[in-house]
Amino acid sequence: MTGPTFPKGKTYAHSSVHGGVLMFDVIIAGCGPSGAMLAAELRLHDVRVLVLEQETEPGSFVRIVGLHIRSLEVMAMRGLLERLLERGRRRPAGAYFAGIAKSAPADLDSAYAYLLGIQQPVINRLLEEHAIELGAQVRRGAALAGFGQHDEGVTVELADGERLRSRYLVGCDGARSTVRKLLGVGFPGEPSRTETLMGEMEVGMPPAEIAAAVAEVSKTERRFWLRPAGGGLYSVVVPAAGVSDRAEPPTIEDFRQQLRAIAGTDFGVHSPRWLSRFGDATRLAERYRVGRVLLAGDAAHIHPPTGGQGLNLGIQDAFNLGWKLAAQIRGWAPDTLLDTYHAERHPIAEDVLDNTRAQMELSSAEPGPQAVRRLLTELMDFDEVNRYLIEKITAIGIRYDFGVGPDLLGRRLSDIEVNQGRLYGLLHRGRGLLLDRTERLTVGGWSDRVDCLADPTAALDVPCVLLRPDGHVAWIGDDQRDLDDHLARWFGQPTNDGGAAQR
Ligand SMILES: Cc1cc2nc3c(=O)[nH]c(=O)nc-3n(C[C@H](O)[C@H](O)[C@H](O)COP(=O)(O)OP(=O)(O)OC[C@H]3O[C@@H](n4cnc5c(N)ncnc54)[C@H](O)[C@@H]3O)c2cc1C
Repeated sequence: MTGPTFPKGKTYAHSSVHGGVLMFDVIIAGCGPSGAMLAAELRLHDVRVLVLEQETEPGSFVRIVGLHIRSLEVMAMRGLLERLLERGRRRPAGAYFAGIAKSAPADLDSAYAYLLGIQQPVINRLLEEHAIELGAQVRRGAALAGFGQHDEGVTVELADGERLRSRYLVGCDGARSTVRKLLGVGFPGEPSRTETLMGEMEVGMPPAEIAAAVAEVSKTERRFWLRPAGGGLYSVVVPAAGVSDRAEPPTIEDFRQQLRAIAGTDFGVHSPRWLSRFGDATRLAERYRVGRVLLAGDAAHIHPPTGGQGLNLGIQDAFNLGWKLAAQIRGWAPDTLLDTYHAERHPIAEDVLDNTRAQMELSSAEPGPQAVRRLLTELMDFDEVNRYLIEKITAIGIRYDFGVGPDLLGRRLSDIEVNQGRLYGLLHRGRGLLLDRTERLTVGGWSDRVDCLADPTAALDVPCVLLRPDGHVAWIGDDQRDLDDHLARWFGQPTNDGGAAQR
């Protein structure tokens, strides 16, 4: 690494200079949904954040993704849901497991029991704007090229040789993560066996002929569609000729060739707006943390898009990590708190990888997998089976292992009505929350980190619940000493005057 330099023409409100090098609390590599979400979560706790993004402009290719129930809840907990709803389309919550057409049970335990279909660039932009509004610095055209960590922090080197320093570094830099590779963390799993081309383009065939040809191909080929995308464009998905494992986009000729091979016609496709490819590699990082460097989102796990879970998983990683890393920076984190990020999120990703593997098998045209699919389709008529799979895909079934206790312990609390409005409206600041029906418990010296709501609601059938900033139930009980132990477990040592600190 060469000597320190300053970035040109930039002002960094939330940074300081040490030995001629800009210093942040956290540098995040990658401003996709995971990086932007993490930056916003850290800013809720006044952490000095810099997000490095190698692209000079936000990505333009329009992939429609689905935000599942838990992500919608996460957005509601931070006051972002309304903005998303204005830009997306609500769809039924069911029928996402391997595309098996079953409606969701009517009584799913959520105020947001639907899927929001929305363009990924819209989510990315909204989360980036949100992070910036909260004070995060986002620097575009800045690619992380190297880093070194030591006892005190991390030194990051950009592709142009500039050096920056931070106390922690988080790689949210996607599937081909530079941070993960430099960290030397293993990424075991299976390579892509198939590759799929995806894009938006114009077609030169009458709609009725297109519909007939598409209907015929769709009988046997699940990785195929050609449908109107608005503005005279068609969205096209077709299997690729083979697995290229290349980063660069395919050409319109690749599409023509594959359409002819699969459908017998190239539909006269021309004038593409964007073209892309994706594979079905399935891999999971062995560790989410090495010292002062952590991984989140696609940098930590990749899998086929079946069931639409990748972006949801990344946002929820960031939501889990944000308050813990902030606690570490603010100095109140218990010793083991930061490591609970890997302990809680790694098994969740393992489970998502497994369910996508299962979904891929169920999508095969081979007779064996087709028979299993028919059997599962029958089994999903049983409410419990259908509910189990929907709660898995939408992530509302997650229960972190917080030790022995009632079933609610470790689960998220849904957005119940409380006397002061809706529960999630009270979580916008990313603080802990005690819901105290006994009206005699107190958060005492933790009141600078944890709010307390006395007599919250009759809807809660337990005396008292302690929620973490991510809305998961950290404790259930009615005893002050037991509560204090759990406040210390999650929120560190009390301050003598927590109330004053809060004011
Ligand atoms: C066809 C398809 C459909 C999908 N549908 C869904 C769906 O319905 N629901 C769902 O949840 N998910 C879906 N996904 C998955 C989803 O798109 C990804 O999981 C999501 O984008 C991951 O977000 P991320 O922020 O972790 O990584 P990314 O979105 O990959 O963002 C990483 C960012 O890091 C930047 N970067 C990379 N290297 C560096 C570097 N060295 N320095 C600085 N910046 C760097 C990149 O430019 C990029 O902006 C789909 C994926 C595909 C392919």
